[in-house]
Amino acid sequence: MQTVTVLGATGSIGCNTLDVIGRHPEKYRLFAITGYGQLELLMEQAQQYAPRYVVVADEALYEKACELAQQYKVDAEVLCGSQALQDVASAPEVDAVMAAIVGAAGLLPTLAAVKAGKRVLLANKEALVMSGALFIDAANQSGAKILPIDSEHNAIFQCLPQDFVYGDLASSGIHKILLTGSGGPFRERDLSTFSSITIDEASTHPNWSMGRKITIDSATMMNKGLEFIEACWLFGAKAGDIEVVVHPQSIIHSMVQYIDGSVIAQMGNPDMRTPIAYGLAHPQRIDAGVSPLNFSDIVNFSFQTPCFTRYPNLKLAIDACKDGQCATTRLNAANEIAVEHFLDGRIQFNDIALVNEAVLNALPSVTVNSIQQILEQDSLARAKATDIIRGKFLC
Ligand code: NDP
Ligand code: MG
Repeated sequence: MQTVTVLGATGSIGCNTLDVIGRHPEKYRLFAITGYGQLELLMEQAQQYAPRYVVVADEALYEKACELAQQYKVDAEVLCGSQALQDVASAPEVDAVMAAIVGAAGLLPTLAAVKAGKRVLLANKEALVMSGALFIDAANQSGAKILPIDSEHNAIFQCLPQDFVYGDLASSGIHKILLTGSGGPFRERDLSTFSSITIDEASTHPNWSMGRKITIDSATMMNKGLEFIEACWLFGAKAGDIEVVVHPQSIIHSMVQYIDGSVIAQMGNPDMRTPIAYGLAHPQRIDAGVSPLNFSDIVNFSFQTPCFTRYPNLKLAIDACKDGQCATTRLNAANEIAVEHFLDGRIQFNDIALVNEAVLNALPSVTVNSIQQILEQDSLARAKATDIIRGKFLC
């Protein structure tokens, strides 16, 4: 029996995690679930899955959460605030933590789980993009096992040799990691119409159902850029070891190409319950509720090279990855601000990459060696992005 905390239980990954856990009550019990704005859903989940703790991230919502807990007849204790998120991620009773808060808000609770040596199911890619070496060092020191939940990284993890040594791709006979991505909803859209892309159009992914922020990141391919950086940290790869391949059908979730010419791919229907189940049960396999892939249903199976004119965010992220920690932390922060402004209808779709680039160009590079310095760079880039948007881009 594994005891699990689900950070970000009310989100897309969180709900899928509870769905998988609910299929195996003999294997998993919940220690804590956390949410932010969706308190009713959080209480419904508490009713159904009976965790020991329910955590609301926003302290201002504590009283409302307690009232709802009574209304929903929830037995769990209600906690609130940033420290409570870290506490339920690192409590001694917890074996595994699903890190599924979106964005930089997930950094500290995810790191708390890492430092406490938990089995960390990492969906919150922004945490790793922001803190890279510090995150990996913390895992090495504590003995935390990081299991990638992002479908691509989960696929790569499944395609690596069992004796893979972190950072040593060559001695495992690996030529390249092939990171696949669908190309999003605008893969074929006329570039001259990008400035008129609506929020609804950008919020509709052709293959995956996901949270709002990652859906926009998928449309700009910033998501693939963040995943590029994530892959470098997860597998100790260099930028030159990774190639992004557009695969519109999202059947192959990523591949590893070996020096003998073999390519090993992981495939399946696009359903996040597969990597979640893999992360929960590894090295075993459990039923995830995912329908089997039926090859006779696959009409097209195609691949392309991504075009940086169409996806400038992808190039920014690859360049930032080569630049180092300061650049990736700032890019992630700038992008969160730009996406928020796009979703609020204050800037255009095209402006997201322009804001990101302007932030990176506006700030001189510095060395970051601590979480404190990472958080400072995150704040600095957010403030710069907000200023740039006010000065130049407001619709
Ligand atoms: P959602 O937006 O659906 O869910 C985000 C979760 O984080 C919700 O539980 C939300 O609470 C909570 N949250 C939001 N803001 C805060 C905050 N400031 N403090 C604490 N909690 C907060 O996102 P997804 O589930 O789509 O994505 C989660 C993470 O997983 C992201 O990092 C994403 O990149 C990654 N990921 C997602 C995939 C997917 O298929 N969805 C695939 C691969 C990776 P509430 O809803 O109550 O407001
Ligand atoms: Mg992914």
